Parts: sequence; C-alpha cells; structure tokens
Amino acid sequence: MTGARIPNNHPRAESLRLREKLADSFVEGVVAVSGLIAHGRGEAFDYILGEKTSKPALRAIEAAAAALLTAESPVISVNGNTAALAAEEVVKLSDTTASKIEVNLFYRSFERELAIKKLLEKAGAKEVLGVGKDASAKIPELRSQRRRVDPKGILVADLVMVPLEDGDRTEALIKMGKRVIAVDLNPLSRTAQKATITIVDNIVRCAPKLIETAEKLKEQSNEERVRILEDFDNRENLAHSIVLMKKRLEKLAQKTCRRGRERCDH
Ligand code: ATP
Repeated sequence: MTGARIPNNHPRAESLRLREKLADSFVEGVVAVSGLIAHGRGEAFDYILGEKTSKPALRAIEAAAAALLTAESPVISVNGNTAALAAEEVVKLSDTTASKIEVNLFYRSFERELAIKKLLEKAGAKEVLGVGKDASAKIPELRSQRRRVDPKGILVADLVMVPLEDGDRTEALIKMGKRVIAVDLNPLSRTAQKATITIVDNIVRCAPKLIETAEKLKEQSNEERVRILEDFDNRENLAHSIVLMKKRLEKLAQKTCRRGRERCDH
C-alpha cells in the first residue's frame, strides 16, 4: 500500500483515491507502469468533461448494453487498469449479459496475468480466459503480445468490449469482422474513433450505469434492443462528445478571463 491519507474534504478526493488505487495495483503487479501514464491521460480528458457522465456517454451506454445482450458470443477484455478500477463491475456485467471475461495485456507476463485473474476471481468471476497457455491463438494483424488470445474467447467472439484500450487492437478486431465496444475518455484516440460503440466516460462511472441499463434492457424485447442499435450512430455521438468538451472549455475560458467576454472570444 502506498499509504497516503486522502482527507474526505479534499476537493479532488475521488480522483486522488483512484490514483491511489492504481498506484497500489501497480505495487501488487496488476497495473503496468505505462498503465499509470494512460490513467493520467484519461484524467486530463475527464477534467475537461467535468468528471460527469455526459448525454452522449449515456446514449453509448444504452447502445453498448443492447449490443452485449444481442451478441452471440460477447467477451469483455480486461487489462491491468480495468481490473484495478472495475473488477467487480466487470464480473457483474459479464453475469448480466452472459459475456465471457478474458485477460489481454500489452505487457504480458504470466505473473501479471495471474494477478489479474486472482483479482477477478476475488470479485466473483467463475471463469477467466486468456491466462498462460490458454491464450494459444493469434490475431494475425497484431505484432504485440496483445495478439495472443484465447480460442474459446476473443478469437471466436462476435463482440469484444475493450475498456481503456490501445488503437491497434481495436483496428485488428474490427478487421476480423468483430464489433467493438470501447470505453475511452479520449474521444480523439484511435480506439475511440475506430470502435463500433464508444463510451466517452470514466470506467468507474460508466460501468455501474452499463450494468443497470443492461438489467433494464433484459426485460425488454429483442426488437427493442435491435432498434436501439440501429438508431445509434457512433461517429455522430463521438462528435457530440467533442462539441461538449469544446463548449465546456469556452465556458471555462470566459470564467477565467477577467476582461469580459468579448475580449476572450477568438
Ligand atoms: P490510441 O492508441 O487508441 O490512440 P492511446 O495511445 O491513448 O490510444 P493508451 O495509451 O493505451 O492508448 O491509453 C488508453 C486510453 O484509456 C487513453 O486514451 C485514456 O484516455 C483512456 N483512459 C485512461 N483511464 C481511463 C479511465 N479510467 N476510464 C476511461 N478511459 C480511460
């Protein structure tokens, strides 16, 4: 444990707690050092978003829930950051949507795979794919360790959810004809741009909402889930997220400029 004490009344307590969680998970061998950097990038975009789930994110969450429930063999791909921040939610989501869970890492080591598997099992996972020799199949388009996948999981999946992902793998999965759900605070990343459905939100905020939405949609007809999917346009929705960030930055600029609105308008 890194042991820093975060006072409850600290204005950025929640964000600091997440950092602390990631730092602890790094020490425990779950998160890679590059995962800490990726988290920092996410934090910066979250700051611009106002650390809230936006309307476009809610629309993407609904589409993602519908996609998971209509898929034939959905898989949730888990890396170190996702395991550290949302292990319980991953397990709940997998139960609600009958999705498999597979460990997939850029910096693969058997120790790290096992540490992530343990964390997921502690959170209630009954089966965790992609660990050790189980990741015996390869995604042809990829060079990194991420190419190694489980023949029972990602290889045969029609839909893969890839929270906090890098762009290469999203592209490769799409090329293989799979649908991809991304969770990425950066709407400009290649992952966000290439995915079939992109949730521009923090995994810690959107994961519980995704579970809740999936539970509700499960009660609805399959026609309703298909209608939601057909109505969803990822590029348009991503553009809404970008505009939202622009508008927030404009508001913040006007608040910051003491000289009056006109002089700050460029
Ligand atoms: P790409 O290769 O897709 O262009 P990248 O190089 O940014 O993206 P990574 O370094 O793997 O890829 O970063 C992962 C992404 O995860 C980053 O874009 C970051 O914004 C996002 N991210 C980090 N933490 C979170 C979080 N808690 N919730 C959602 N997204 C996050």
